[in-house]
Amino acid sequence: MNKKKIHILFVDDEVQFLDSMKKRLETRDFEVVAVDRGEKAIIAARQTPVDIALVDLKMPGINGEETLKALKKEHQWMEIVILTGHGSVDSAVECTRSGAYSYLQKPCDFENLLEVLKNAYKRKVMNKNQIEEKRMNEMLKASQSTSARDILRRLKEIDSGGP
Ligand SMILES: [Mg+2]
Repeated sequence: MNKKKIHILFVDDEVQFLDSMKKRLETRDFEVVAVDRGEKAIIAARQTPVDIALVDLKMPGINGEETLKALKKEHQWMEIVILTGHGSVDSAVECTRSGAYSYLQKPCDFENLLEVLKNAYKRKVMNKNQIEEKRMNEMLKASQSTSARDILRRLKEIDSGGP
């Protein structure tokens, strides 16, 4: 486990999609645990620290919404982003009421996904460390960086209590 990286738990029953997204996220410095079932996600989250979970809505076994609820119950600071295919936006919206940070429609634009991950992680750091939005923006400004990667690195430093 790399303490300088942001930890993503990726849950999707489409294994090809899962593998390609894992690889792409790893090239952007995320540490990714990929599993193809909600049940496995719940177990994986008990074994390894997770900052953000990306959860597919439709899966065999327990679905995305049930996975979301189980993860949230056990991991207070984990942020969860729901991935949804066509025609299930309503249930994805429902998930944000159950505590999901956001939802994304598949196939998702990779840069858009990175932006959502960045903001989800920012919220996690703010909530966990009880930092208000204004102070957080000042802390981020101090890093003088604009790229998502630098901002994420800075957030990770704040989350870990310093560089
Ligand atoms: Mg699916």
